[in-house]
Amino acid sequence: MAIHPVLTWGDPRLKRNSEDVGAWSPELDQLVADMFETAIAEEGVGLAAPQIGFNINLAVIDTSAGEDPARKIILINPEILREEGIQRGPEGCLSIPGIHEVLERPRQVWLKNRRPDGTWYEQEGEDLLARAFCHEIDHLRGRLFVEYFGPVKRQVIQRKYQKLHK
Ligand SMILES: [Zn+2]
Repeated sequence: MAIHPVLTWGDPRLKRNSEDVGAWSPELDQLVADMFETAIAEEGVGLAAPQIGFNINLAVIDTSAGEDPARKIILINPEILREEGIQRGPEGCLSIPGIHEVLERPRQVWLKNRRPDGTWYEQEGEDLLARAFCHEIDHLRGRLFVEYFGPVKRQVIQRKYQKLHK
């Protein structure tokens, strides 16, 4: 297993649209294991493949910080089917270290998600998990959470970020 360096805000590779995952392979098993390891090492709830330079529709989520294997979720070619309610809370991103901003997200989200074997199922998530679904799927579409804010607020965040990482 290996921890991969995470690409950070400003890297053009984070802005690309990702391609669907095709047939599953041992290499993808390895990549998923690496992604979980990287997310846990960086103390993140999730990690999307584009954040480590793979532009494919693959992401991992672990809301237990490595404590409970049953809570590991692999998103493969996921699509949001429906959303309900609103939650307001702080959101952060491993690609924008040090920045946490309050962002509105749906409180409950239903996904269509693929298993490695190619079969599909519906996955429901609420609260932190619903937020993680939205956040990771945004990465697969080339979108970072700070892009939800208007230009003025985004500039303030950008200055704060540059100050933190001088
Ligand atoms: Zn992120």
